[in-house]
Order: sequence, then C-alpha cells, then structure tokens
Amino acid sequence: MFFKPVFKLGLFHNGRTGREDKLGGLPFGLPPDRWPACAVCGRPQNYIGQFHSSDIADLGRQGRVLFLFQCPDGPMCESWDRYSGANAAVIVDEADTAHWPTAAPTGVEIEPEGIVTGWEVTEPAFCISYAGPGPSYGANHEGDNDPEGRFLIQLVGQLDFKAPAPDPAQTGAEHLHYSGGQYGMDNLRFEKPPRERRHYGDWSRGQSDLPGRPSQVVVLENGDWCVECANFGGGTAYVFMDDATGQAFYFSER
Ligand SMILES: [Zn+2]
Repeated sequence: MFFKPVFKLGLFHNGRTGREDKLGGLPFGLPPDRWPACAVCGRPQNYIGQFHSSDIADLGRQGRVLFLFQCPDGPMCESWDRYSGANAAVIVDEADTAHWPTAAPTGVEIEPEGIVTGWEVTEPAFCISYAGPGPSYGANHEGDNDPEGRFLIQLVGQLDFKAPAPDPAQTGAEHLHYSGGQYGMDNLRFEKPPRERRHYGDWSRGQSDLPGRPSQVVVLENGDWCVECANFGGGTAYVFMDDATGQAFYFSER
C-alpha cells in the first residue's frame, strides 16, 4: 500500500506536540550540532522537513527521526545529487533527540511549514509525495542508477491543500489567483496581503520576519491551493535508508 501525507499549513495547526511529521518551519528535536553545512559552499543548509519512525516510514529503530536538508543554492551546489554534500538526510536516535525546536543558524532561510495531519491511501505516481514499497521515477531516470538502499519516501517541493483557500489577511502572503482557459491558467490576478511582507532574497518561498509562513500562495479556479516549500528543481526527491549503517540519503530527479 502507498500512503500520501495530508498537510495542514503550520500557522493553522494547533496543539503541537513536536512529534509531528512535517515539512518546513523549524526542526523539532534536532541537536544543534547536527545541523549540516553545505560541503560545496559552506553555508548552513535549509531545513526541508522531518519524519518519525513509524509503520509508514520505518527508520529501522523506534523513536528515530529523519531530518532532511538542502543547500539554499541548489543549482550552484547541485543539491539534487546524493553525493554532492549539498543535501543531507540526518537520522537521529531517540536518546539523542532534543525536546524543543532547534534554532536555525544565522542566515538560514526558513521554508513554509506544512504539518502532516494524516496519511491517505494513494496510487504511486512520479509527481506526488508518498511512502510505500517503492519509488516512482520520471522520464529522465536511468535504470542503472537505482540506489542500493531501502526506499522510505518520495517528496515534491509543494504543499497541496483542498478548497476553500485562506485569504491574504490570514496567511500574510501574496496570493496568486489563476483562472480561465482549458487548464484554468489563462488569467492571473495578484492579491496583496494587508501588510507588506518580507521574504528571503529577491524571491523566495518563505517570509523572513514570520518564519514558516509562505511568501506566496497559488489559488486555483476551484479553490484548491498550494504553497512551494522546497527546491527539488521541479522534480521529486527520493529518500532511502541504508539499514546496514543506519544512515539515510536522498537525491532528486525530474
Ligand atoms: Zn551550497
């Protein structure tokens, strides 16, 4: 069986325990000295998300947590490549986890946060996030590049939500409304938040003075909406576990 995560935008999630699987925001329980730097440019990596060992994502030992990171400059440092050192899949055993959110190193961009509130049965496909028996690769995958590890989960860099969409006063983000034409994409209307937002860099996924909030929200004609939360180059990230060493790794492909 394949299961896809059901997300709730972090700012709408109450009753947080720290044990939630999630993407974006701040890591919970990561020892600060385990926050990875990019092996190419030396900058601290951006936190992508975390998953706790469960029947859905078995990390080989109960209580283990998987933390995912990538270099903020993915195109320059080749963060899609599992061997580049520009991404990281950090496994922390339960005894080593902290009991609080981990402060981000100075200058780190905080990605929009989506909390996993449940898992639903899905068909496997290339461009969706899911856990299950095996990955779904895209058209560019070369068969002889199949990794030797045990598949855990695949992720896309986007959080999808069902209608109704929130309004900019709730998110503080700029909302992009698409409508019209065969694919509902012909017209684009921008809706600004009531107060000017700050965000990382010239363009980025997250707000800088309200970390974990999206900078932009895309709203479709039917009210479904989405938020970009990681840069996998428009492709999918594949996370694997090496049970012999207790290490995890990932790469992304289109
Ligand atoms: Zn880098």
